[in-house]
Amino acid sequence: MDPHPSQPTEPNLSSDGNTEFTVPGRFQNLFPIGIGAQGAVCAALDTVTGMPVAIKKLSRPFQDVTHAKRAYREIKLMRLVDHPFVIKLLYAYSPQTTLDTFRDIYLFTERMDSNLSNVIGNRLDHERLSFLVYQMLCGIKYLHSAGIIHRDLKPTNIVVRADCSLKILDFGLARSVGTNFMMTQYVVTRYYRAPEVILNMDYDTKVDIWAIGCIMAELITGQVLFPGTDHVDQWNKIIATLGTPSAQLIARTNHSARRYIETLPVHPKPPFEQLFPESAFLVSEGSSSAVLNNSSARNMLERMLEIDPYERISVVEALDHPYVNMWFQEDEVNRPAPVPYDHALDEQELSIDEWKALLFREIQEIQRQTLGMVTDN
Ligand code: AMP
Repeated sequence: MDPHPSQPTEPNLSSDGNTEFTVPGRFQNLFPIGIGAQGAVCAALDTVTGMPVAIKKLSRPFQDVTHAKRAYREIKLMRLVDHPFVIKLLYAYSPQTTLDTFRDIYLFTERMDSNLSNVIGNRLDHERLSFLVYQMLCGIKYLHSAGIIHRDLKPTNIVVRADCSLKILDFGLARSVGTNFMMTQYVVTRYYRAPEVILNMDYDTKVDIWAIGCIMAELITGQVLFPGTDHVDQWNKIIATLGTPSAQLIARTNHSARRYIETLPVHPKPPFEQLFPESAFLVSEGSSSAVLNNSSARNMLERMLEIDPYERISVVEALDHPYVNMWFQEDEVNRPAPVPYDHALDEQELSIDEWKALLFREIQEIQRQTLGMVTDN
């Protein structure tokens, strides 16, 4: 990247009527493209590289410890990763040049066209569907190799281009975020939450496979697979759809979960042909290819949507499934792991002022490295 010092200018605009973006002059043609838990996102053109970028503004990310930890974790992780299906940080910038005045952080990433929720509802052929699933699996395998379990994969966290390429946009929940003790500031999506998380059992990387299964189902049918209205309803919807789990799984749950499950009527497991009938797919069975067909897609879904994580397909096995392995590229599937993420970083118990100082130093360093901008502090 060609570091190109430039002075901050004020190509300000409103993305939701009141968010101003103040970024270096090399970034032009700003327009709003999204809004997330941490703030507004704009598209812009980097006039130095000619590249379209997305700029996310974090306003006072140190306003409370939750926001500060999340911002710090995201920035550290985005700098660590290097995978075509995972978003990485191009630049970071703060218009404030001293710790005292420090307020906003701008994060710059490669711009994609849309997020995956905008694709839902468009009927996809198997080629597109399997390519999307392949990319999600590769990106997640790579994050797992850095010791990161995402735990919050959902369509709005995945950005796509018109050519069907995608990138995982954020890094999910920190390890320290419990499931019962969800941080109130963030609405953690329930729909894609794995059974073992709902049941408060030990969980591992398989939770991300469950989420990919739910997303794949939604891409096929256009509907959220398990639209639970609360924690308990989420579980009820899962078993009403997939059937009561095995006695082995129930035996591993805690006492209160087991008691609750045992009060529920026993649901038989329906055949996946019933859950995803021919009419759910764009292509009828007769006219499809030997590997990319409705029954192969159904089998992949059935393996990912296995309630018992011990029985659920692993990411390595999933990448070997005939439905996706035609896309297999060694440098995408088995890309060397990044330096493992040090979870102690975002588990530090620091005061707001200490987080602020840490974030400020981090941004100053990235700004110097990526934009060649040096400030006095
Ligand atoms: P975030 O705050 O990172 O969750 O982003 C909120 C929304 O902004 C996403 O759901 C996308 O619609 C959009 N967005 C964020 N980053 C990008 C990007 N790099 N390319 C395209 N859209 C993006």
